[in-house]
Amino acid sequence: MLLECGPSVLAGMKRAKLDTLAIDSVLISHLHGDHFGGIAYLFMEYTFVATRTTPLILAGPPGLEERVFAVHKALYSEKIFRRLNFEIEYIEIRPGDSLTLADNEIEAFEVPHSAEPFSLGYRIETPDDRTMLFSGDSAWTDAFVEKSRGVDLFLCECCTLEPMTPVHINYRELLAQRDRLQCKRLLLTHLGADMRGASSLEFELAQDGMSVELV
Ligand SMILES: [Zn+2]
Repeated sequence: MLLECGPSVLAGMKRAKLDTLAIDSVLISHLHGDHFGGIAYLFMEYTFVATRTTPLILAGPPGLEERVFAVHKALYSEKIFRRLNFEIEYIEIRPGDSLTLADNEIEAFEVPHSAEPFSLGYRIETPDDRTMLFSGDSAWTDAFVEKSRGVDLFLCECCTLEPMTPVHINYRELLAQRDRLQCKRLLLTHLGADMRGASSLEFELAQDGMSVELV
């Protein structure tokens, strides 16, 4: 299961020498381009490079199917879209929904962000009972306190060092909330340049190509 598919995902997978055909499903948190804009490139990979014959499941908020088609049409053409040689199965997810993807049990909840129709965070439980919370893109919400309780990993967005925008979490805010979180490990992602360039931060930062084991 691929979690989010931004425009650089295919390039990142190639760099890491990952098998693109190992993906059965893609889980998207919200309809902003940096989270789903790479799906068109995945389609091209499956049609012209690593031939896909099995269905690809795309799961995310309502509207994902229309937006994926619109992006593909803009980047390539409808004709090429019609020639894709594998089935695409869409699953619409709404806040409160539970679903199973690639044997992972997933719970969706709404988070405060600016995407239409809404933005989702996910609590994911793997077949071997490891748990992960993913914020998606979100402002701080107390829902993370409850949902992070006992999870092995909280993959939390942290866009900026200082408060800059009301639709993302910032480092100062997270520091203030840290003691309320009860996850076993907190890993920050969706990092802006000021976060990546800062020294001696009190949290662990995700990096491209990073491998994380849930224990
Ligand atoms: Zn966003």
